[in-house]
Amino acid sequence: MNPKVLIIYTGGTIGMIRDEKKGTLKPFRLNRMTKSVPSILEMGLEIHALELEEVIDSSNMTPEVWIELVGIIEDHYDAFDGFVVLHGSDTMAHSASALSFLLENLGKPVVFTGSQLPLGLPRTDARENLITALEIAALKDENGNSLIPEVCIYFEDRLYRGNRTHKFNSENFDAFISPNYPALADSGVKIEVALKEILPQPTSKPKFHNRLNSNVGMLRLFPGIDLNPYVKMFIESGIELVVLETYGSGNGPTKKGFLNSIATLIKNNIIVYNVTQCRQGHVDMGKYEAGAELAAMGVISGNDISLEAAITKAMFVLGSTEIHTERLSLMQTALRGEITP
Ligand code: ASP
Repeated sequence: MNPKVLIIYTGGTIGMIRDEKKGTLKPFRLNRMTKSVPSILEMGLEIHALELEEVIDSSNMTPEVWIELVGIIEDHYDAFDGFVVLHGSDTMAHSASALSFLLENLGKPVVFTGSQLPLGLPRTDARENLITALEIAALKDENGNSLIPEVCIYFEDRLYRGNRTHKFNSENFDAFISPNYPALADSGVKIEVALKEILPQPTSKPKFHNRLNSNVGMLRLFPGIDLNPYVKMFIESGIELVVLETYGSGNGPTKKGFLNSIATLIKNNIIVYNVTQCRQGHVDMGKYEAGAELAAMGVISGNDISLEAAITKAMFVLGSTEIHTERLSLMQTALRGEITP
């Protein structure tokens, strides 16, 4: 029997056409896609496709759409061997991260892909991305288990763990990086899968979570920042966790005023999650006085998590439990390979 793969089209450049009047790109409907890549019908796969009711530029992505995607995957989970999510690249790293948390004990691949040029254009990167993503979603081991039971992103020859990715280039075909975790597969003449980097097959049944809490704030430090207005805004608007983008290995100013502002957040039961502004490396608050002060106050470490994973993990954890100590512990635990234990 041919492996069965479900394509879920959410929107993005891969399926866009030019609005001749405005001169901008806008999403079009899925049936145009299979017409543009007839070779996917010759891949030896049984491919089914569906699209969101409203296909969107991924700049319009919301937690509600992530929950919708989980519902679609849950409804089709038993009937398919793998899933390919066609998605705009702008927020693909966020969506792949969110789905990685929402899909617990995932035993099948969920491969996000998209493109920098629309499918219909002669130089498009969409065809190769789509075809290889489909192939990856169908890969099995000798026991018939999916080879890559993870939420991942395939873009320009490389497969990455979704919650480790970051879109770093808006013009190159090679748009994504995974600075703190190696690629899961490289696609050349053959698809070379880095088996030792891949999460093991789960031993329990999948759990499809459907709760996210978006009371998450984000604050990027810069020299001279006055935290007071932000603290006021976070408290007044009911923010429950702030992702604090610090310098280097998790450092911030040691000035009293700054530390008092952080203390006010913590006193108000707001979790402060320390993530570094550096793309590569991890938070180590014990290294410098400037970080140690934060740790002593109760700021918790995001280790080597990406910003995209930090934000979506926070939404997931806040949605999963109201208990403060559980939230603190889950945020510091590797749930889906998003941090290095
Ligand atoms: N703006 C587009 C989107 O994210 C860009 C892309 O598809 O890559 O939907």
